[in-house]
Amino acid sequence: MQNLYDLNDMVRADCQDCTGCADCCKGMGDTIVLDPYDCYRLTALLGKSFDEFLSKEIELTPKDGLVLPNLKMAEEKDCCIFLDENERCSIHSHRPGICRLFPLGRQYEEDGIKYFLVQGECTKANRTKVKVKKWLDTPDLKRNQKFLKDWHDLKKQLVEEALKEADEQIMKNLSLFVLNHFYRKAYQTEDFYTEFEGRLQQAKDALGL
Ligand code: SF4
Ligand code: SF4
Repeated sequence: MQNLYDLNDMVRADCQDCTGCADCCKGMGDTIVLDPYDCYRLTALLGKSFDEFLSKEIELTPKDGLVLPNLKMAEEKDCCIFLDENERCSIHSHRPGICRLFPLGRQYEEDGIKYFLVQGECTKANRTKVKVKKWLDTPDLKRNQKFLKDWHDLKKQLVEEALKEADEQIMKNLSLFVLNHFYRKAYQTEDFYTEFEGRLQQAKDALGL
């Protein structure tokens, strides 16, 4: 059984700024899935709407019962569209949560999130130990953790409800609702988390959850 870590635990994840390596920015297929906060950060940084991103940097893919956005790989090089010519991340300060985590993964539990070291993925030798919360490099971490847990629980609940109906059209409608409500509609304030909480409650009311 793999070890699970809390935010204050030390874990051998520190690959020293990935110097000389960009392996996990290449050949990732559709696995760099974006949550609403990832999209909010990217739209703020690059000044594009969600639909403008859809025309180039991101694509929609079925994921665990819903259709969600993920970062695209550039076709000719099969690397992330944001990897620059020096093989560095061109959006480092605004990179998605999955990129911040790697080589850690999240495990969602009843009372919060635990972390584990993804085995055999990071190719860097001699990684050193680092505190999980330092590795995540995420401002306002407490609120971010609450958002991640709420988002995870909502998706789980939606898929469970839709599966009860076993109706493909219901799943499609639900996916469209999630995309429009949490991604496509631009966030109006700088306080993402408060606005997300409002939208979450609206969604629960609208869907009778
Ligand atoms: S966003 Fe940056 S860190 Fe994440 S895969 Fe793309 S280039 Fe790599
Ligand atoms: S494989 Fe490891 S060292 Fe290489 S880019 Fe990814 S996290 Fe950094």
